[in-house]
Amino acid sequence: MNPNQVLGEDNPFEAMHARFDLAANKLGLDAGLYKILRTPDRELTVAIPVLMEDGSTEVFTGYRVQHSLARGPAKGGIRFDPNVTLDEVRALAAWMTWKAAVVNVPFGGGKGGVVCDPSKLSRLELERITRRYTASILDILGPDRDVPAPDMGTDGQVMAWIMDTYSMHARHAATAVVTGKPVGLGGSLGRVEATGRGLMICAREALARLGRKATECTAAVQGAGNVGQVTASYLGKMGVKVVGISDITGAIVDERGLDIQDICSHLARVRTLDGYGKCDRVSNAQLLELPVDILVPAATENVITSRNAPNLKAKLIVEGANGPVTAAADRILDEKGIFVVPDILANAGGVTVSYFEWVQDRMGFFWGQDEVNDKLETIMVRAFHDVVDMAQRFEVSNRIAAYMLGIDRVATITRMRGIYA
Ligand code: GLU
Repeated sequence: MNPNQVLGEDNPFEAMHARFDLAANKLGLDAGLYKILRTPDRELTVAIPVLMEDGSTEVFTGYRVQHSLARGPAKGGIRFDPNVTLDEVRALAAWMTWKAAVVNVPFGGGKGGVVCDPSKLSRLELERITRRYTASILDILGPDRDVPAPDMGTDGQVMAWIMDTYSMHARHAATAVVTGKPVGLGGSLGRVEATGRGLMICAREALARLGRKATECTAAVQGAGNVGQVTASYLGKMGVKVVGISDITGAIVDERGLDIQDICSHLARVRTLDGYGKCDRVSNAQLLELPVDILVPAATENVITSRNAPNLKAKLIVEGANGPVTAAADRILDEKGIFVVPDILANAGGVTVSYFEWVQDRMGFFWGQDEVNDKLETIMVRAFHDVVDMAQRFEVSNRIAAYMLGIDRVATITRMRGIYA
């Protein structure tokens, strides 16, 4: 059994609500807005029948949840993972609403998920699942309605199939219906690196606030997917010594510092850290408790719980994953005085460059890499200081401050728009 289930800390939607309630209370949010913003606008569950390569038929379950459409089209990734649940997708959709509001891009929040294990599917099966799922949620998608992006288990190719399926029905090439597409298909330069780049910017700004020098810091990164790899590389370029990185097969550590480029080349060939023989191996649980200055959980939800939070040694946590810290662990991290850059701020570089991609697709005019990076820098730095200043002003944690900032922006617009009846 999942140990977090025993702790009662495993439901991400409850975790979202716990923080939402604290932030809403601190803001003095009125009772009506509280009810509106706590509830997802729309939830769609679809059955996805697929003809498998061996001739059998499978039926997969897919979800798309639009938490809020108040500030613009729903925006958020689609996750292909065997553990996807509706409550997880609900939480992830709400986090997208607050995240888009924290960086102040004109989107609402949505998320999708298909219960499947991409590592066990052929490319053709993956394409069939993607196209049928897209067709089943077609009515609620669109550049002005809901704009998906990659998340765990999906990538640029999956986005290309979504774009094509939608476009075949629309009878024209609708590039702005998804972001995170390959660059040749209307994707943006810098999108693949955007989340990791945003994390690096947050780490840099946090170190400056803490009066620490990057070159005197060590880091551990949990997760060696796109976000983990890019973040580890950028931290290395900043002068931070990255001493540990992990994936589902466990962690590799070297206190003299890892050769991130070499590890990325290994991952490009082998896909997992398994067989990377040049360093010592520890478990994922041990990686989180390493004596490092910076910890970047960039894998999945609920990895820092009330059980292991007391053992963490890091002074700074920069959350690459969505929901890596449970609500019960928040209090422990606060008591330990750990500076946490919460997910809805730290990993918002992804949705920010998704916004740039959507704008470029709608203009049909594309920007250079430097323009993308400069604009990302401006937005992330502003959002970081908005959140941290708010935390100081209201004497709350950075996480609750980020929720307050996001909720307040969505509440303001919802109040202005009023209730259509
Ligand atoms: N899946 C990413 C996230 O959780 C990106 C979403 C997007 O770009 O729309 O933020």
